[in-house]
Amino acid sequence: MMPVWSSLSLKFVFIAFVAVSVGLWLGAAAGWATVSLGLALLYGVHVYNLMRLQRWLKAPNADDLPDPWGMWGTVFAEAYRALRQESRKRDQVNRELELFTQAAQALPDGIAMLDSGDQLLWCNDTAAAHLGLQPGRDYGLRLTNIVRVPRLASFLQSGVADETLDYRPAHHSGQLLSLKAIPFSDGRKLLVSFDITKIERADTTRRDFIANVSHELRTPLTVIHGFLEHMSGTTVMPAQQARRHIALMVQQSDRMLKLVDDLLMLSRLEGSDTPQREERVDMHALLHALAEDARALSAGGHNIDVAVDEGAAISGSMDELRSAFGNLASNAVRYTPRSTQISQGARVTLTWRVDEQNRGVFSVTDTGIGIAAEHIPRLTERFYRVDRGRSRETGGTGLGLAIVKHVLLRHQATLEIQSEPGVGSEFRIVFPAWRSVVDAPAAQADAA
Ligand code: ADP
Repeated sequence: MMPVWSSLSLKFVFIAFVAVSVGLWLGAAAGWATVSLGLALLYGVHVYNLMRLQRWLKAPNADDLPDPWGMWGTVFAEAYRALRQESRKRDQVNRELELFTQAAQALPDGIAMLDSGDQLLWCNDTAAAHLGLQPGRDYGLRLTNIVRVPRLASFLQSGVADETLDYRPAHHSGQLLSLKAIPFSDGRKLLVSFDITKIERADTTRRDFIANVSHELRTPLTVIHGFLEHMSGTTVMPAQQARRHIALMVQQSDRMLKLVDDLLMLSRLEGSDTPQREERVDMHALLHALAEDARALSAGGHNIDVAVDEGAAISGSMDELRSAFGNLASNAVRYTPRSTQISQGARVTLTWRVDEQNRGVFSVTDTGIGIAAEHIPRLTERFYRVDRGRSRETGGTGLGLAIVKHVLLRHQATLEIQSEPGVGSEFRIVFPAWRSVVDAPAAQADAA
C-alpha cells in the first residue's frame, strides 16, 4: 500500500501539472482557476472521507470498509487492523479474567478482596454466604459497615498475615468461621474465611469423650480402691463382710472390663468404613442364637419371640452384625420391666424380613419404658443415656448404640427408631437390597 504522504503529494503534483498546462494553453487566470478547483475538489473528498471515518469508528465493521484503493483505503484498513488487534487482546484478557473468577468461585473457602480502605472490591459466593454479603450490591462499601464482627476493624488493620479471627455469624447459628487477612499490592487485602465448624465439633466430641471415659472408669475404680484400702487396714474381717466386698469388687471390675471391651470394639470399628469380612450370615441361626442370649439375660422375666424365614441370609460380617443386633436385643430386655404376676406384658420380638424393595430388615420391638421423642436423635452418641441410673443398674456402658451406628455405617445400613414412652420401642435396621441373600425356599416364620 502506498504511504499516505506520497499519495497526497502525487495529487498535489497532478493538480499543479494540470493547472500549468491549462495556464500555458488558456492563460494565467485559467491556470489559477484550475488550481483552486483542484484544491476545492481535494478538500471536499477529504472532508467527506473524514466524516465517513468518524461515523465508521463509532461502529467499526469489516463489511462497511470503503474500497481499498487510495489513501483513505489505507487509513481505513489500518484503523480496522488496530481495532481488531485491540479487540482480540481484550477478549483474551476477559477470558483469563473469567477463568480466574471461576477458579476463585470453585475454592471451598471464602475469598473477599478489599482495597486499602477496607472497601469490598469483589468476593466469591462462599465468602458471600459466610459473611452475609451481597456480591455486586455491596461492592464499594466498607466491610466493617456490613459485617458486624467485634474486633474486625483492628484485625484488618493489624496487617499480620498469620493472625486469625474466629467468628460465629449471626445469620448462621452453630457455624464457626476462621478469618485470615492477607495483605497484597498497595495496602489491599485478601480476606479468607474458613468454615471450622466440623473441626470444632470434633474437638468438643474428643474432649467430651475423654472426660466421659475417665469418669466411667473412675467410678468403679473408686469402689474397688475403697474396698481394697479398707481391707488392707483391717487385720481381721468377718468372712461374710469380706465376701460382700469381694462380690462388689468383682461386679465393678466386670463393669470396667465391659467398658474397655466396648471402647476397643468402637475404636476398631471407627478405623475403617468396610466390614471386617464379607461372608454369608445366616439370619435364621443368628436370630435364634440372639434370642437364647436374650432369654438368659431376662432370666424368665420376658416373652422373647423370633420371626424369621429359614434360609434368609445377608452378606456382611457375622461378628459385627451379631454385636449390633445383640446390643439392640439386650437393650430391649434391659429397658422392658420384667413381667410379674400382676403384669404379664413384658415382650420382646426379634424379626427378620425382606421388604418389597428386596431390602433386609431386622427389627427388635419391646413393650418397655419407651423413649421421649427429644432423646431419639441423640441415642447413638457415645455415653448418651436417657436415664443414667437405669443404664448402670442393668449393666449398660452407654456405648451400645454407638457400636450399632458404626457397624451399620460399615454395612451401608440405616437405623430407624420408633418409640412411645410407657408403651414400647421398635429399633429397625434396614440393609441395602444388594446385601440380601435368600438362597432357600421361604419357610413359615416361626415363633419361639
Ligand atoms: P446403654 O448401655 O446405656 O444401654 P446404649 O447406647 O445401648 O447404652 O443406649 C443408649 C440409651 O438409649 C440408653 O441408656 C437408654 O436410655 C436408651 N435406650 C436404648 N434402647 C432402649 C429401649 N429399647 N428402650 C428404651 N430406652 C432405650
